[in-house]
Amino acid sequence: KVVSEDPSDEIEKWARAGLLELFLRAPVETDFESIMLVYAVTEDPKLNAKLAQTATQRGLFVNAADQKNDCSFITPAIVDRDPIVVAIGSEGTSPGLARSLKADIETRLPKSVGTLALKIAELRARLSNIMPEFSERQRLWAGIFSRGKDLESRLKSTPQEIEQAFDAALADQHSAAKTGKVSLVGGGPGDLELLTIGAQRRLHSADVIVYDRLVSQDVLDMGRREAKYIYVGKAPGAHTTRQEEINRIIVVEALAGNDVIRLKGGDPLIFGRADEEIEALEAAGVPFEIVPGITSAAAAAASIGASLTSRGHNKSVALLTGHDSKGFAEQDWKSLAEKNARAAVYMGLGASRFIQGRLLLRGAERHRPVTIVENASRKDEKIVSSTLENMVQNIEKYNITGPAILLLGYKSKTGIEGALSKVRASL
Ligand code: SAH
Repeated sequence: KVVSEDPSDEIEKWARAGLLELFLRAPVETDFESIMLVYAVTEDPKLNAKLAQTATQRGLFVNAADQKNDCSFITPAIVDRDPIVVAIGSEGTSPGLARSLKADIETRLPKSVGTLALKIAELRARLSNIMPEFSERQRLWAGIFSRGKDLESRLKSTPQEIEQAFDAALADQHSAAKTGKVSLVGGGPGDLELLTIGAQRRLHSADVIVYDRLVSQDVLDMGRREAKYIYVGKAPGAHTTRQEEINRIIVVEALAGNDVIRLKGGDPLIFGRADEEIEALEAAGVPFEIVPGITSAAAAAASIGASLTSRGHNKSVALLTGHDSKGFAEQDWKSLAEKNARAAVYMGLGASRFIQGRLLLRGAERHRPVTIVENASRKDEKIVSSTLENMVQNIEKYNITGPAILLLGYKSKTGIEGALSKVRASL
């Protein structure tokens, strides 16, 4: 029922077609009889408010366009793939944003998803006869739609394909209890932009996420909300006993049927003790995979704008650790002391004086550049340009407490101490 003194052509057309009743006049009290819901959408906000008030007094639902305070309900933007409907509401705060979200969701939800839903209704009816337990049925569908599978391609399934997946899941459930798997995933140096799509995909579908100290909060936030999060951060120095505990956790969680992510900072295969975890998984017969990540030395080099290998300068670059299981790590100091040698040192802060001493002893040039990059790629990244001679003082002076990479033989294009800028904070 439309009441308007000046209706649009479209409304008049619909009235002629019998789709609505049109009254060419101002609204009156009796218009509020025998209806359930009112839209007060005249050009006059005061009149809208008054109509809304009348409606409310009569216990009717009312929406006044663009006058949130006069509304008892709002109409969200919807994506309609009958019977699948997605509504996007912003409580009146930002209709423009809601509309862009709608456009985005529209591109993701194929037209055929409604047909898919109808097919699923049919399969559900079949399932409730053979699987009386609600939670068991729920798990079966969760398996079809998320667990490690690509939801986007699943949404494009034809009814036949969904029936096949359903039959396969059913057969799976009838076979012996399933073993999960473990993905050793590189979380990168911290910045979300440096996380791989593979890591992101697994984070979205994991049941259990086992992570340590160097995984950034931004990366963790990508994890599935319902997942179980287990922190296994190791304090430096307290390594040996804890690693066995981590091995045990990932094995036990996978044997319980979970998809487990072992999430590590940087790349899992660089100073990540991945081989010990792999050995434990193999011994327990747990399937695993490895998803590489961007290692912190790569991020640090990118931050200072230096190429890790330079034509005509260094033919190789060493990735070193400052510490190993025995304490400060011994290295091939002779070749590292050579004129053009270059290395990225992980876990090098505590060992910096030791490294400096060993290199100077072998005749390394005192003024050889050393760039320290703390929190590479993160918001609180710090770059300190130093030399072999003053790097130890600089670590203290600039309060570098880690995680940091020491880039031996690399000059920074940015950074504190005689370089272009101070902390790169605002970049
Ligand atoms: N697997 C990791 C390294 C683990 S060893 C990787 O590939 O990066 C831990 C050391 O990594 C730290 O002591 C530090 O030297 C380095 N590190 C990790 N994240 C870092 C970051 N965001 N910035 C600088 N160094 C980092």
